[in-house]
Amino acid sequence: IKGQYNIYVAAYDDTLRNKLLREQAITDSMEAALEEKQFVIYLQPKFQIKDDQLVGAEALVRWNHPKWGFQSPAEFIPLFERNGFITKLDQYVWDQTCATLRRWDEAGYPQISVSVNVSRADIYNSDLIEFLTRTLTKYELQPSRLHLEITESAYTENPGQIIATVQQLRTLGFVIEMDDFGSGYSSLNMLNQLPLDILKLDMKFIQNETAKPTNQGILRFIMSLARWMNLSVIAEGVETREQLERLRETGCDYVQGYYFARPMPCDEFEKLLLQHQKQ
Ligand code: C2E
Ligand code: CA
Ligand code: CA
Ligand code: CA
Repeated sequence: IKGQYNIYVAAYDDTLRNKLLREQAITDSMEAALEEKQFVIYLQPKFQIKDDQLVGAEALVRWNHPKWGFQSPAEFIPLFERNGFITKLDQYVWDQTCATLRRWDEAGYPQISVSVNVSRADIYNSDLIEFLTRTLTKYELQPSRLHLEITESAYTENPGQIIATVQQLRTLGFVIEMDDFGSGYSSLNMLNQLPLDILKLDMKFIQNETAKPTNQGILRFIMSLARWMNLSVIAEGVETREQLERLRETGCDYVQGYYFARPMPCDEFEKLLLQHQKQ
C-alpha cells in the first residue's frame, strides 16, 4: 500500500508540476505577446429571435501564440485574473473593439453594439470608468454601443462595491448584461438590487437534455421575471434548431451560439454584417 501511495503522489506531483511550469511559461510571455499583437479579437454574432435580425456581437479574445498556436481563453483568462494581467488585456480588447466600431461607422455599416467581457478584477481597478469613457470619446462612440458582460459570480464577494461601480457605468449609458445568469451564485432576492439591462442565460439551461422539461419550466419563469423587471434575455450556447425552437416558445429575445455561427475574425464578421444590411 505504501508503494502504491508513493506512485499516486508522484503522478499527482507531476501533473501539478507541469501545470505550474505551463503557467510560468504563459506568465513569462504574456507582456511580449500583447506588444506583438498575438491577442486577437473574435466576434460571435447575436440575433433577435423574432425576425433573425443580426443585432450585435460578443468580443472573445484568442491568443495566437507563434509556437503553441491558438490558445483557449478558458485556460489563460483564469490565470490572468489571478496574476492581474487581465486588466491590461481587457483594456486592449475594449480599445480594439471600439476602434472596430468606429471603422464600421465611418464605412456606413449598420450601427450594431458589441459586448465585451468584464472580469471582477477590472471592476476593482480604479481606472475602469475613466478608461471606458476616455476610449469612447477617442472613437466618438455612444456608451450604448458597448455592452458590458459581467458574470454572475462577480457579485459574490463584496457585492456593495461592485454594484456601486456597475451602477455608475449604467448611469453613464453603458448597457449591462449579466453573464452566466443562473449558474448558481446570485439569489433572486439580490437580482432587483443590481443595475442591469440584459440577462444572459447560462448555457446549462438549454444544453442539459436530461433536465429538459424542468428547464423549460424554469425558462418560462425566468422570462416572466425578466418581463416584470424590464430586462431582455439572451441565450448563449444554442447549438441546435430544437434548442432555438424551445427558446422561441418561452419568449426569449436574443440568441447566440454555434447553430448560427462560431466566434469569427473581425473581417469575416464584417461580411456577415454587410449581408444582413442588404436583406
Ligand atoms: P463566456 O463569456 O461565457 O463566453 C461564452 C463561451 O462559449 C465562449 O468561449 C464561446 O466561444 C463559447 N460558445 C459560443 N457559442 C457556443 C455554443 O453554441 N456551444 C458551446 N459549447 N460554446 C459556445 P470562449 O471564447 O472559449 O471563452 C471562454 C470564456 O473566457 C468566456 O466565457 C469568458 O468568461 C472568458 N473570456 C473570453 N474572452 C474574454 C475577454 O476578452 N475578457 C475576459 N475578461 N474574459 C474573456
Ligand atoms: Ca461573456
Ligand atoms: Ca464566463
Ligand atoms: Ca456566458
